[in-house]
Amino acid sequence: MSNLIDEEQSPQIVVIGGGPVGLFTAIQIKILLPQVNLVIYEKHQQYERNHILRLNKMRTFFGLPPSLLLKNMIDNLPSVVRTSVLESQLLELSKQLQIPIVHRNIENLNQFSDSRVIIGADGSHSIVRQLVFNNKMEYEKVLKYVIEIKYEVNGQGQKLDFIKYQYRTQKQLKYLVDEHIGTQKENRTPITLHLLIDKQIYEQMKSATFKQPYYLHSHQHLIPKDLLETITIWFNVKKDYANEQRIENSEKITCITLAVYQSSEFVYYNEEKKQYTCLVGDAAFGVPFFRSLNNGIMCSKKLSLCIHSCFREYSSQTYRSGHLLTNLKFALKKAKNELHYLINWNKPLNAYNQYVHALANVEVIFAEKKAALLFVIEVMNKITGTVPWQVNKWSSSKVEKFKQTKNDNNESEIIMNDDVDTMEMDDENYELVQEFDLVT
Ligand SMILES: Cc1cc2nc3c(=O)[nH]c(=O)nc-3n(C[C@H](O)[C@H](O)[C@H](O)COP(=O)(O)OP(=O)(O)OC[C@H]3O[C@@H](n4cnc5c(N)ncnc54)[C@H](O)[C@@H]3O)c2cc1C
Repeated sequence: MSNLIDEEQSPQIVVIGGGPVGLFTAIQIKILLPQVNLVIYEKHQQYERNHILRLNKMRTFFGLPPSLLLKNMIDNLPSVVRTSVLESQLLELSKQLQIPIVHRNIENLNQFSDSRVIIGADGSHSIVRQLVFNNKMEYEKVLKYVIEIKYEVNGQGQKLDFIKYQYRTQKQLKYLVDEHIGTQKENRTPITLHLLIDKQIYEQMKSATFKQPYYLHSHQHLIPKDLLETITIWFNVKKDYANEQRIENSEKITCITLAVYQSSEFVYYNEEKKQYTCLVGDAAFGVPFFRSLNNGIMCSKKLSLCIHSCFREYSSQTYRSGHLLTNLKFALKKAKNELHYLINWNKPLNAYNQYVHALANVEVIFAEKKAALLFVIEVMNKITGTVPWQVNKWSSSKVEKFKQTKNDNNESEIIMNDDVDTMEMDDENYELVQEFDLVT
């Protein structure tokens, strides 16, 4: 426990889940309602998730409650940040605002029966959603199946030159490949590949999870032939044309889905207990393509304002950031909210429910459109790889060579002289050629 709290007295507001959205929500409520008794319950002692988050700072942080502490933190936050870094900074701010955090895995909500508001910010497998909302979903769908390969290379990792090598390599691959080069540390660079696979391959690979990943060297026999061929070609091209020296046996493979889901409701009012339960962040809805956290924070802004209206008696009159623009943005947001409450018969949490429904609907449509676009790119890739008149391509002998694994290479001493097809053009013409290929 990081702060002493009175375990006898039920907190007025309980936040279940101290991930980025839970912490953000608690911080905003505490700024708006400094006197309110609020406690965060988080099951983990330490933050370990390290994935990179892309923040749309302009949209996501517009109209936050005016507070110098919060403003300084946001101003210094990069727009690409590791989850553990963001969580540590939010945790630090929570401490400064004296928000108690209890480290406990919440399995039921009986202990909070006297609380006025329970906020479920406990992620995609939310226990609050399960207990209070019966896990009822308005929408749930897998959009894409993905293989993630993480590995390390010696020195600075490089991308392939797109026109010269990547485009013609991609055409030879059964699956679309997206590559992210990490930051070099101690003379090693982490690289992440995402391969868009189909459902059939997913079914064969789904036991490769984050907790129990496959390793290329030890699980090769479990990887379907087409997938292994794609990986082999990609690695061989990177070795030959980006001078990539992979750290042996560092290739970790996991299977993931890009899914959308949306809880059927986000607010529940228990008449008997006079208690609200709300969902926020991944507990409420989730979409892929680097938008979920941004959406979660948008919802947390709305939720904290709505809760502020329910607890007006605890409201602070002194919250000013000392920064005119921040105050103005907040005043604008607040005025818009007051109007929203009026439309909702002065029931602020109904307004929150409505807001999340509207946002989730738009985000689900956006995610589906993006998935459809990816499908079109996949089809285009297949077409450009099979049409007979393509010019910007590897020769068939080269392709055969790229398909060979390390063992095959040791066995064969063949020296390939016919590197390119006879139709291949000079380097300066690649751009033109690519346009031609895309049109086909
Ligand atoms: C690889 C990857 C990359 C991503 N990149 C982006 C990106 O670039 N941009 C973006 O916007 N989003 C991104 N996301 C999504 C983003 O990580 C999530 O949307 C965000 O973490 C959700 O925050 P949250 O606080 O709602 O839930 P979580 O981060 O899941 O936090 C929930 C917290 O609740 C705690 N908890 C759960 N159950 C209990 C319980 N029973 N009792 C107590 N505590 C509990 C958990 O320990 C956890 O700390 C990415 C996700 C992944 C996996």
